[in-house]
Amino acid sequence: MGLRHKRSHTRCRRCGSISFNFKRKVCVKCGFGSTPKMRSHKWMRKAGY
Ligand SMILES: [Zn+2]
Repeated sequence: MGLRHKRSHTRCRRCGSISFNFKRKVCVKCGFGSTPKMRSHKWMRKAGY
């Protein structure tokens, strides 16, 4: 508990958010690294997208 100093995420080259996981080499937001396509945002459609 507490010691969460190590950042596992860095800036993603594609979506620009700090969601690129170092260890997995995958962006958890847009899927960069795991898929050539943008990750689908099914959960975003509810917000009128
Ligand atoms: Zn991304």
